[in-house]
Amino acid sequence: MSFWLSGIGVSRGIAIGRVQKLHGGDLEIPEYTLGAHEVGHEITRFYGAQQRAKEQLHDIRDQIPGGAPAEIAAFIDTHLLMLDDRSLTDAVATMIRSHNINAEAALRRQRDALVAAFEQMDDAYLRSRKDDVQHVAARILRILMKQERSLPAGSAAVAAEPNVIVADDITPADIILLAQQGVAAFITEYGGPLSHTAILARSYSIPAIVGLHGARRLLRDGETIIVDGDLGHALADPDAQALAFFRDKRSGQLAQRAALSGLRHKPAISRDGIKIRLLANIELSEDAAHAAELGAEGVGLYRTEFLYMNRQGLPSEDEQYEAYARVAAAVKGPITIRTLDLGADKQVDSGSRQGPTPNNPALGLRAIRLCLKEPELFRTQVRALLRASAHGDVHIMLPMISSTQEFRQAQQFIEATRQQLIAEGHRFEREIPVGAMIEVPAAALAAPWLARYASFFSIGTNDLIQYTLAIDRVDDEVNYLYDPLHPAVLQLIRMTIEAGDNAKIPVAMCGEMAGDPRYTRLLLGLGLTEFSMHPASVLEVKRIIMESDIGALREEVGRLLISGDAHAAEALVGA
Ligand code: PEP
Ligand code: MG
Repeated sequence: MSFWLSGIGVSRGIAIGRVQKLHGGDLEIPEYTLGAHEVGHEITRFYGAQQRAKEQLHDIRDQIPGGAPAEIAAFIDTHLLMLDDRSLTDAVATMIRSHNINAEAALRRQRDALVAAFEQMDDAYLRSRKDDVQHVAARILRILMKQERSLPAGSAAVAAEPNVIVADDITPADIILLAQQGVAAFITEYGGPLSHTAILARSYSIPAIVGLHGARRLLRDGETIIVDGDLGHALADPDAQALAFFRDKRSGQLAQRAALSGLRHKPAISRDGIKIRLLANIELSEDAAHAAELGAEGVGLYRTEFLYMNRQGLPSEDEQYEAYARVAAAVKGPITIRTLDLGADKQVDSGSRQGPTPNNPALGLRAIRLCLKEPELFRTQVRALLRASAHGDVHIMLPMISSTQEFRQAQQFIEATRQQLIAEGHRFEREIPVGAMIEVPAAALAAPWLARYASFFSIGTNDLIQYTLAIDRVDDEVNYLYDPLHPAVLQLIRMTIEAGDNAKIPVAMCGEMAGDPRYTRLLLGLGLTEFSMHPASVLEVKRIIMESDIGALREEVGRLLISGDAHAAEALVGA
């Protein structure tokens, strides 16, 4: 009988295969007290297992094929480094000696303490690194307990249907070995989107679902299963109709992916020779590398709010500096970092504001308004941003600018902070572009004046549409009015682009509209030459650009703007 299971889809694509459970996931770790004379031998046994674990990882590293992405070997190196870390070696030996317990029990105690410490970390990426501690500890434990996990034989690729690996969790090393056997997909009971299982599955383009609790109990070895890595669903024991449907869907996806992946290293140049810049929107510093892999030439919007969320207290200057510097160093092109955009739909636990909730938070003290009102909050971030500019091509972007005066005030604040840092002897990029987000209609209308001061514009259509059409972007009741094709919205976009062109400053768009392939031709016709979007959309948008004649689109869109014809706009986007 068919049934659906749901987890978190972390690596896209459809796979159809047979369930192959990885056994030996859960280890029953024994604990016993040693006699004083046994302690020395136990410590030797522990170090022996640690050495053996290193040998195993070196063997796996040697098996990585030449053309594999660099991060694959880097994962193994991370585990090798951990295996040598004193918190996993000497600390365990000390615990064996001080508590007179066996090596397995001491390692388990030390592992649990390290995992607890990682769980306390504010940074989501670092928090997810507890998986590595668990994987490394599990490898030593298995050796100590003589329960090494055997992977399925490498016959999967020649079988009628390849294997879908179902496990409690899969170590990076196992993924490397399994990927070489041509497995169809991974399903794990634990892990999240930032786990190494997820990252590696994406590197190998193998569909994967994590966090599917109970998968090993519910699925039977050998049964057919369909994995939808986009949606995070799996269909066990599908009927003929479902199989035919998903086979079709998979063929379509594979053909599309093959065509798109060929575009990764091609420049986004239109048929009539106009170069368009494609950038990525990122939320976490570790998204930067993924964006570059998918063909983004830099970062057009790094939303820094996420550093402030899900925590008690505000991030310090050093913590922010490290996060920004990490992204700046990881990105080859420009890295546009948006200053704090808190308020309205983006609230934090650590906000210091007290008092009644405003009636119209989207029109209230948010984004740049909040930063100018709370100079210490702003100064900490600006200092961190300026310092991080030593590591890359950092651009500072100010959200929700509504007037020239406001932009000037923020610009002067940044300049004063820069002088302060120079006086303190800090070294960083001296000329950092400071740009304005155009997401309030007043800013679009005042763009010719703003352009005298701003180094660049970036159009935030999510808010621009909200404020232009007077519809709350998070209110379901009025969502049907949210219309990127409204002539008023198109006019404001056009005016902003024109003002930027006249002042010879770059104009990008970083709202969702920029990453929606339906609007690409329209935006090209409006004169947009920089698009910033979710990395997953980059190649699809690039394909449309490469097929477009921008000169012809500009004429078409020019006529459309004059006529205000909504149907013509819809026809252009194929709605
Ligand atoms: C926008 O408003 O279009 C934008 C990119 O910013 P956010 O969605 O973060 O408000
Ligand atoms: Mg916005």
